[in-house]
Amino acid sequence: MKEVVIISGKGGTGKTSFAASFAYLEKENAVIADCDVDAANMHLLLEADFRYQEDFYSGEIAVIDEENCINCGECKEVCRFDAIHVIDDQHRVDPISCEGCWYCSRVCPVEAIDMKTQKVGDFYLSMTKAQSEMVHAKLGFAAENSGKLVAKVKNEAKKLTLANKKEFLIVDGSPGVGCPVISSLSGADLALLVTEATVSGLHDLKRVYKLVKSFNIEAACIINKYDLNIDVTKEIEAFLEEEDITLITKIAYDETFAKALSQAKTIIEYGDSSLKTEIEKSWQYIKNILRS
Ligand code: SF4
Ligand code: SF4
Repeated sequence: MKEVVIISGKGGTGKTSFAASFAYLEKENAVIADCDVDAANMHLLLEADFRYQEDFYSGEIAVIDEENCINCGECKEVCRFDAIHVIDDQHRVDPISCEGCWYCSRVCPVEAIDMKTQKVGDFYLSMTKAQSEMVHAKLGFAAENSGKLVAKVKNEAKKLTLANKKEFLIVDGSPGVGCPVISSLSGADLALLVTEATVSGLHDLKRVYKLVKSFNIEAACIINKYDLNIDVTKEIEAFLEEEDITLITKIAYDETFAKALSQAKTIIEYGDSSLKTEIEKSWQYIKNILRS
């Protein structure tokens, strides 16, 4: 089993379009993991069927038992997150502001505060229209701990890939450089960095590569929209050469990305085009690296 994680330091580079196209090309020979749990949308492009759902619990919040509460106000006084308010003469916890620190429950003189595990998202297993199995999730509104949910998606996807003897695990990584992207990168054989020819694209590429390097993971890169700024493209190429990162391809700005997305199709399905050919060649190149 070989694992490729497709990441980009910033949004809008086409990361998910590439990941979904590779998944569509590889069909049942790959398992797909969508680790972009804060803004999951790969299920739309691959028509996931949501055949299994599980609640995902993480962290705790304080819950006041109103029957026992004597409204002394001690909990409100100690809460450093301003999560306790008096509403209709009753002390109540705002679940979005509560950080689960336990302080209020320790000072309550009548033990009227319980700490309860909270549901922060949904975890799914699906079959896609390309007949590949897909592991994905959705983080709840204002929920944190997406790193833990990403870790669950990754672990389950790995288990599935190994159990079903699939050759590839294709991971749509989390954006940015925080905890979720660290979870999505762990244990990968190759990090495919998708960037674009803009100043912020180059800046974010450098940031995310620093992370990849610290994990000692081999890296390759696709420069999307390279014709937006040829000078920046040259700077990106110089950076890749300096860091010994394989340049898979450079792709010119192409409206096909947006058109295919608007029809919930991968670029491969959208019709014959030079972009489709380029993506097919890129996936072959990536597979050769993974197999070497
Ligand atoms: S400390 Fe306990 S009794 Fe006092 S207001 Fe808070 S929950 Fe109610
Ligand atoms: S658990 Fe901590 S953050 Fe939550 S209400 Fe109690 S004191 Fe505030």
